[in-house]
Amino acid sequence: MQVWMLKRPRAALWIPVMNGGINKKCYDELRAAGTVTADRVSGLKIGYEKGVFMGLGPGYKKGDWLVRFDTLQPALDAGLPATVVVDRPVIQQILLNNGVPENTVRIKSRIKYYEELGEGQGIKVVLEDGNIAFCDVLVGADGIWSSASNIEEVSYQILLGKDKYFVSTDGGGERQQWFALIREPAGGVDEEATDENPSPKLKRLLNEFSNEMPGDANGDVWDGFAHELLRATPEENIKRRDLYDGQPLITQGWAKGQVAICGDAAHPMMPNLGQGGCQATEDGFRLSQELATVTSTKDISASLQTYFNKRIGRTTLIQTAAQLGSDLLVDFDKMMTIVRISG
Ligand SMILES: Cc1cc2nc3c(=O)[nH]c(=O)nc-3n(C[C@H](O)[C@H](O)[C@H](O)COP(=O)(O)OP(=O)(O)OC[C@H]3O[C@@H](n4cnc5c(N)ncnc54)[C@H](O)[C@@H]3O)c2cc1C
Repeated sequence: MQVWMLKRPRAALWIPVMNGGINKKCYDELRAAGTVTADRVSGLKIGYEKGVFMGLGPGYKKGDWLVRFDTLQPALDAGLPATVVVDRPVIQQILLNNGVPENTVRIKSRIKYYEELGEGQGIKVVLEDGNIAFCDVLVGADGIWSSASNIEEVSYQILLGKDKYFVSTDGGGERQQWFALIREPAGGVDEEATDENPSPKLKRLLNEFSNEMPGDANGDVWDGFAHELLRATPEENIKRRDLYDGQPLITQGWAKGQVAICGDAAHPMMPNLGQGGCQATEDGFRLSQELATVTSTKDISASLQTYFNKRIGRTTLIQTAAQLGSDLLVDFDKMMTIVRISG
């Protein structure tokens, strides 16, 4: 059966299946490539120093843990191994090396449009480069727009502030991954780099997370950890993007005829739980299982519906939790103020 995934292979969603589970060699290589983060502290930290609010209660003390969470015991209780972090290009290469037949993944194959040729008749896919492909199933995995100081002790932390927060995690190989979330209207663009200001993105972030008096625009002085990571990041590695999520597509579904969607195309979510890519991968796994049961092209539509039915409950819960988590974090300052006034 010809299956066409509507995406480039940045996070290829192909998990080789062996005896109903993930290929053992592939799994062993993924674990070996990962950095265990569950053996250290993870949690939410107060990102900045703030004085007493209107004389009510104590102020924030920069660097205090608001909450620490155990990421090891829950995994052990569930009979699962400790969480590991693996770089996406590494995951992609391991998946490609273990089970995807040669020449299956083609890059620079952006899809312009497709045409369903009738039940059981397949799909005609027209690429932007003019090539035409035919397949039995089309899966849209085309994303949401579908047609280092205390490093050795801390693995994952969120520095909380007013209308912004800074997330960092151990990426393995003495590297840290980070992202800074700032609340502002969508569609903003960065200043162009000039000779006088060659690093506008970095400059803005250093101001947003300023660790020296007078602090950021709110007058808040941030924990130096964010600054440390920012200063270690070259301008060209900083990418700005607006974040969007969406409501679960419970009534609309993820499949129509022989065409289905998966990943962010099906369940866009905020990044707080670190689950968007994980759920996309699970979708790919479930899809491969369901499609493996198909013996006639006429059964494809029903198998795609089964894929949706089996996935929608879990992804809805995670999508909702990610949204709630994001709302709570970005409004952390307001909530703490309410708690102090009412307490
Ligand atoms: C700051 C941040 C941190 C995150 N951290 C994590 C994390 O720790 N863990 C985690 O699991 N997730 C994380 N996520 C979420 C994760 O990045 C996404 O959920 C995941 O990339 C979705 O995968 P996808 O394959 O559905 O879509 P995408 O990764 O968006 O891929 C879509 C692909 O489709 C291609 N495409 C688009 N249109 C077409 C077309 N017409 N034809 C062909 N190809 C097309 C695009 O070029 C792209 O390559 C994070 C997200 C953000 C923003």
